[in-house]
Amino acid sequence: MKIGFVGLGNMGAPMASNLANASHEVLGFDTVSVVPTGVIQAQTAQDAASGADVVITMLPNGMIAHSVARDILPIMAKGAVLLDCSTIDVASAQTIDQLAQDYGISFLDAPVSGGVGGATAGTLTFMVGGTDQAFTMAGPLFEAMGQKSVHCGTAGNGQAAKICNNMILGITMIGTCEAFALADKLGLDRQAMFDVVSTSSGYSWTMNAYCPAPGIGPQSPADNEYKPGFSADLMLKDLRLSQQAAGDVDADTPMGAAATLLYETFVEQEDGAGQDFSAMLPRFERRSRS
Ligand code: NAD
Repeated sequence: MKIGFVGLGNMGAPMASNLANASHEVLGFDTVSVVPTGVIQAQTAQDAASGADVVITMLPNGMIAHSVARDILPIMAKGAVLLDCSTIDVASAQTIDQLAQDYGISFLDAPVSGGVGGATAGTLTFMVGGTDQAFTMAGPLFEAMGQKSVHCGTAGNGQAAKICNNMILGITMIGTCEAFALADKLGLDRQAMFDVVSTSSGYSWTMNAYCPAPGIGPQSPADNEYKPGFSADLMLKDLRLSQQAAGDVDADTPMGAAATLLYETFVEQEDGAGQDFSAMLPRFERRSRS
């Protein structure tokens, strides 16, 4: 396929290279000059999108994704697909979908899970909202960039799945970290705590696969001085999106709200910026109840 790719950052660059490796013709554009392996550099987003079967965007937020969509939709070929893989708010995804329909273009929101490691290895999971037809058309691209794609329903539902998943992830990470900090003060050995919890009803992905305690469980950012991994900043972004969506539909999410506040404090007032989101554990270790 002929593919336009807009947003060649930490995630977009390896994703675009994987598409080129799978023999697709990829024209890439970023406001910063970067040329990932196998990708042809375009001078503007419109140049990248012109004549493409599918245009992929991988951008920082909903405002930018919307503005790029407004720019490229008028010149995209009728019947083409706009595939936004950024993590953005549900409302922006639905607005872009409406705009795309006005131009006869199919829109898919397809945020990813798997981080930079997954983008590089081509093992991302895509959560996809949009029509059956567009989902089928994008199938070979999901295969080239990832290992799994789940069709979650109409436009916006990919973002809905992503923020619900990450709200659980943020809440669970905090729970796992505060439990370790409590265990420390109770004199419980961390390895014993892991051995019990990872095979008991408190088990979770954050305990079993991404343990926040260094030297315990499988390798994780805790074993690399909490270098991300998945940064606390990105966790805060996703938690804020969950609370924005919860506000829009009047959903009661008290644990999501508490997790948002904790990550906000950690990133904006403490030393959490740039650290992995599991660095909540040393934060709790340093604190007392008051
Ligand atoms: P990034 O900041 O590394 O990349 C974004 C890129 O977009 C940058 O290169 C920037 O120059 C470019 N850009 C900004 N405005 C543009 C415009 N108008 N036109 C063209 N290019 C423009 O961010 P990232 O880590 O690659 O993340 C991209 C998206 O993926 C975000 O929505 C993020 O939340 C999501 N995400 C990131 C991760 C991760 O681990 N990094 C994991 C899952 C999802």
